[in-house]
Amino acid sequence: MLEPVRYFDNGATTRIDPRVLEEMMPWLREDFGNASSMHIWGRKAMAAVDEARERCATLIGAEDPEEIFFTSGATESNNWVLQRCGSFAASPFEHSSVRALVEELPEGHRLPNSGWSVGTPEQSVDLISVMAVNSEMGCIVSRPKFSGLVHSDVTQGAGKVPISLEGIDYASFSSHKMSGPKGVGGLYMKSGRELEPLIYGGGQERGLRSGTLNVSGIIGFGAAAKLAHDDFESNRAHVSELRNIVKQELAQVPDVRCNDHVDQSPFTLSLSFYKLVGETLVIEMDARGWAISAGSACSSGSQTVSPVLVSLGITDDWARGTVRMSFSKWNTKESAAAMAKDLAECARRLQSLN
Ligand code: PMP
Repeated sequence: MLEPVRYFDNGATTRIDPRVLEEMMPWLREDFGNASSMHIWGRKAMAAVDEARERCATLIGAEDPEEIFFTSGATESNNWVLQRCGSFAASPFEHSSVRALVEELPEGHRLPNSGWSVGTPEQSVDLISVMAVNSEMGCIVSRPKFSGLVHSDVTQGAGKVPISLEGIDYASFSSHKMSGPKGVGGLYMKSGRELEPLIYGGGQERGLRSGTLNVSGIIGFGAAAKLAHDDFESNRAHVSELRNIVKQELAQVPDVRCNDHVDQSPFTLSLSFYKLVGETLVIEMDARGWAISAGSACSSGSQTVSPVLVSLGITDDWARGTVRMSFSKWNTKESAAAMAKDLAECARRLQSLN
């Protein structure tokens, strides 16, 4: 039995909240209607979807629930905006679903950066894309002033740090980062903005995102968004306390640097161990029953140093030894202290072998 208290990889995904699961269950059992149907099964499902839309709008501070479109996740939301916006430039700190498009599409460019501060585009573009919170380190990324359209991937920020949609035209977010189910996400599109569909078909989501609605998933997303909104302050206070416990323990280890930024999400802690290998620490911790990650889970498995660390000018000797711990309401003070002690021990042992 895997214990949620030992799971410190909540930036990759989170445990579904049992209250969320409970709200989802009827929609997988008796209330199985297609939300587009005219009969009572369909109308009931659509009413529940619309309540979920309201809850998601409230979480991110959208004025009108109609500004929220449901997708299969933040990867799709990011692709939707960037494949349909014309030319764009994105920060070097983005999730791989954005960075890949900068590389793949002729319309994609990179925004310059100085540390965590992102500069204005070096060419004329229709849209800039700058995430709210970086997934590898939890740093809050500052956005340049820009007169065109602005997209922000708020996946690692929604329900975790205060989000302002001021100056934002499009925002991507995802359910499974906030104790909701996987495979469902949202795109905020400010009233009056337009975007051609990425997916064509039956014309669901006001003609802009086709495909039978994932009713149970959407309802779970709404339930998770409501909990994240209601428990915002208490969750933050809880993870801040755990983070401090871990930081203090690891500060005793030589040759470690904490990758905190002045403006930081308390849900993530990134540490770099000089001349160690992040993956080795992850494997050693796994053997002791702890889940942590080396950089971002989406890019782990690759042997190259994370482009985010490279963009920040972190040298190879430090970058390779980077691990990420990401916290949730399921972790406890005791589990955080025990995990930190084990990580410190593993690091010391590996350092002695160097
Ligand atoms: N953006 C960010 C910042 C993320 O952390 C993730 C998940 N790792 C994604 C996008 C992709 O989200 P999803 O898994 O919902 O496609």
